Parts: sequence; structure tokens; C-alpha cells
Amino acid sequence: MKTLVLVGGGHAHVHVIKLLAKAPITDVAVILISTNKKQYYSGMASAYLEGLYSEADFSFDLPRLCAHSGISFIEDTVTAIDPVANSLQTAAGLRVAFDILSLDTGSELAGKNIPGAQEFAQMIKPLGNLIGLKEALEAADRPLNIVITGAGDWLGLEFPSHRLHYVRLAV
Ligand SMILES: Cc1cc2nc3c(=O)[nH]c(=O)nc-3n(C[C@H](O)[C@H](O)[C@H](O)COP(=O)(O)OP(=O)(O)OC[C@H]3O[C@@H](n4cnc5c(N)ncnc54)[C@H](O)[C@@H]3O)c2cc1C
Repeated sequence: MKTLVLVGGGHAHVHVIKLLAKAPITDVAVILISTNKKQYYSGMASAYLEGLYSEADFSFDLPRLCAHSGISFIEDTVTAIDPVANSLQTAAGLRVAFDILSLDTGSELAGKNIPGAQEFAQMIKPLGNLIGLKEALEAADRPLNIVITGAGDWLGLEFPSHRLHYVRLAV
């Protein structure tokens, strides 16, 4: 039996997992390795911050999704790939062999190394950070001035245009 290893339980691989539930491939063992058990749907991020959805509404459980699709789930981070030996290493020290490897580890935020960013900025990614951001916004006991750095579609347009009435924005 061949082994297909999916790395990263993000938006793209979730579609793959759903397709495999509908049309399982016989004689292929599928393993998903992802850093966290919980994944968040970015398309609902602004509405979550606005309070239209709960955390449960815009998150899903990767182990449960995998179990439904006959996929083995490993909560871990891939740290190295050996394309000659067809195997990978994880942060927890696992060595996983594969016949086919699919990498979908998403993107990283730029600018994390800007002086002061780690201490004073709220990072939007990974999307689980939105939970802390929402709590911080709601806990504020005074009007906030928020400076947004980086103006991609979501931050530049969607986030400010939502009715975040408790903040004053400087974009
Ligand atoms: C706030 C926000 C709102 C957005 N809104 C929209 C929208 O409305 N419409 C739209 O089309 N796009 C939107 N996007 C963009 C969209 O989220 C991305 O294009 C999409 O997430 C990319 O999917 P992906 O599967 O490549 O990666 P991701 O969804 O980022 O998934 C990557 C996964 O890989 C895991 N991972 C990372 N490194 C490792 C590793 N070494 N080992 C194991 N696992 C690892 C991560 O934990 C994560 O689960 C938004 C993005 C943000 C940040």
C-alpha cells in the first residue's frame, strides 16, 4: 500500500480531505500532519471579530475531519524533508515515510522582525491569533487608536469596513 502524506491542514488540504471522504482512493494510506488540531476559516475572520460568529462557527476540528475521511492525523510540525529517502522529520522527533508528499503550509507574515513588532503588534497569522485580538479589543476600557501595517485585501479593506464601532482606525 502506498502512503500519501499531506503537510499542513489549511484551506487547500481541507478541500482535499473533503474530496477523499467523498471518493476514497483504495490502496493508499493518507496521513495529515499539521501544527494545530484546530483550523480557522479566513473568509469568516472579519465577521468573527465583529461578533457575528463564535469561535466554534469559524473553526473546525482537523482530527474529527480526518477520522471522517479515513485519514490518520498527527499534530506536529514538519522540520525537514529527505527527498532521497522519501521521508520527513517532525519537531516531536517522528520520522514519517511517504510515497507521495503534498506540502500546503501556507504563508508567513512579513515584517515580524521589525523592531518592536513582537512586543507591541498583534499578528493576524496564524488565524488563531484572532481569538486573543478580539478579547483584547473587547477588554479595552477606552477608545483605541489602531494602526494597521500592511494593506492586503483583508486588512486594507475588509477589516476596517466592518462595524468595529469600539475602535478608531488609522490605516
Ligand atoms: C485574515 C485573513 C482573511 C482572509 N480572507 C480571505 C477571503 O475572504 N477569501 C480568500 O480567498 N482568501 C482569504 N484569505 C487568504 C487565505 O486565508 C489564504 O489564501 C489561504 O489560507 C491559503 O491556504 P493554504 O491552505 O495555502 O494555507 P493555510 O490555510 O495558511 O494553512 C497552512 C497550514 O499549514 C500548517 N503548517 C504550517 N507550517 C507547517 C509545518 N512546518 N508542518 C505542519 N503544518 C504546518 C499551519 O498550521 C496551517 O494549518 C485571508 C487571509 C487572512 C489572513
